[in-house]
Amino acid sequence: MSETREERMPVVFVGHGSPMNAIEDNRWSRGFTALGQALPRPRAILAVSAHWFVGGTYLTAQPRPETIHDFGGFPPALHEVQYPAPGQPELARRVRALLAAHDADARSEWGLDHGTWSVLRWMVPEADVPVIQLSLDRHLDARRHMEIGRALAPLRDEGVLILGSGNIVHNLRDAFGRMRGASPSVTPDWARRFDADTAEALRQRDGDALLTRWQQSDDGRRAHPTPEHWLPLLYAYAASADSEPARFAVEGFDAGSISMRSVVWG
Ligand code: ZN
Repeated sequence: MSETREERMPVVFVGHGSPMNAIEDNRWSRGFTALGQALPRPRAILAVSAHWFVGGTYLTAQPRPETIHDFGGFPPALHEVQYPAPGQPELARRVRALLAAHDADARSEWGLDHGTWSVLRWMVPEADVPVIQLSLDRHLDARRHMEIGRALAPLRDEGVLILGSGNIVHNLRDAFGRMRGASPSVTPDWARRFDADTAEALRQRDGDALLTRWQQSDDGRRAHPTPEHWLPLLYAYAASADSEPARFAVEGFDAGSISMRSVVWG
C-alpha cells in the first residue's frame, strides 16, 4: 500500500476462496497483492468476513486480536500462520456509535478469521495497519444488512478501509464434488451466469437485484445454499456511493464454481 493519505478511502469486496490462498503463490494471492498495492494506505481496516456469522452484530475490540484458524483438514503450515495486526478499540467504539440503531456490541471471543487474514496477509503483508472485524447477524434480512453497510460509510472519510470478504458464488458441495471428480476446472453455467449477473447488477448499481436475486432465483439459490459468503458484498456495496463505479480487481473461478471476483469502489 502507498503512503497514508487524508482522503476518502475506497471500499473493497474480496472473494477469498480457499484458506490455502493464504500461503500459496497463485493467481488469487497475486491478485490480492496487486489489489493491496493499488489502494491508499488506510489508518485502519474494518473487515466484514463471511466467517463470523453469529447471533448478533458484534465487533472485535481487543488491542491484540488473535489469529483464528477457523477451518479443519488443512496442512500444519496454514495452522501456523499468524497475522499480528493490532486491533483498535477506539475504532470499535466509533463503529458501535455509528451502529447504535442496530445494537452493535463489542465481543472478545473472536479475533481475525481466515476470511480476513488470508487476504490481508497479501494486501498488507507487514500487518501494521490496525484491523477490527464486524460480524454478520444471522437473524437479519438482506435489507438490514445493507442498512448497516450504509451506516458504515462515514468511516471512509476517517481513513478506514471497509473490506467485505466472501465469495459471489460459493457452493462448497459443488466445488468439492468437482475437485474430487474429473472436471475440477470446469465452471458450470449457473455459476458463470450468477457471477455475470451480479457483476452487471454492480455495474448498474441495481441494489434491488443484489437484495433479492441470490434468494429468489434458481442460480442464486444454487450459488448460495447458505447466505454468509454473499452478505459481505451487501455491506461493501451499501458503503459505496452512486458516483463510484464498481471496478473488478480480480475475476475468475477457483475449483470450477467458486467466484473469486473482487470489487473496488472509489
Ligand atoms: Zn470462506
